[in-house]
Amino acid sequence: MELVQSVCTKCGHQIRKEVVNVYTPALRSSLQNMEYFRITCSECGHIMKFYYPCVYINEEKQFVVFFSGGRFFEEPELEAERLIKMKTENMVARLCTTLEEFIEKVEIMESDLDDRSMELFKLSLFARIHLQDPGLQYVYFYRSTHSDQLEFTLISDSGNSGVAVSGDLFHEIEEIMEKEAANEVEEGFLVIDREWAGQKIRSETGEQ
Ligand SMILES: [Zn+2]
Repeated sequence: MELVQSVCTKCGHQIRKEVVNVYTPALRSSLQNMEYFRITCSECGHIMKFYYPCVYINEEKQFVVFFSGGRFFEEPELEAERLIKMKTENMVARLCTTLEEFIEKVEIMESDLDDRSMELFKLSLFARIHLQDPGLQYVYFYRSTHSDQLEFTLISDSGNSGVAVSGDLFHEIEEIMEKEAANEVEEGFLVIDREWAGQKIRSETGEQ
């Protein structure tokens, strides 16, 4: 836990709050509920979004996800390692810049799914749904079900909704990516997001 300070955007009152800066699997539901990413003014009751740098670590599965809290870090690995008090070089390490991506990334990794394949899959899903809903802004992985369905949250100008799709295509992409990843060495905290997926597709098709 860490004591943080903020100022109420409504009345200017100084607010102090204890937040979790190292999330573990035991705190997964508190992360999903965004419990510590809201702050209530003790003076006027105003509730505000509150973002701060934090880390999710699963030592058993050997992965770590760092959320920058909207700040810029020259060397995010150093900040992440400072928080968790251990080295991350043998872990799968990811950097997220938005809270939504951070929560999503943790869910992907905790579901034992490959996040690169997931971003590629989401891009194709986005394209398909966008044909019917031009207001679609984001597709976030929500969870995978026991019957191998993948569920997604859709953020659209016309309102938010959800969709469940078969995991077949995803697993095909995962197989291809696994072969490719066998020759790759990862270094540092990588950003694997929609932009990464777009660049990957462009480089595969020869467009730079
Ligand atoms: Zn206030």
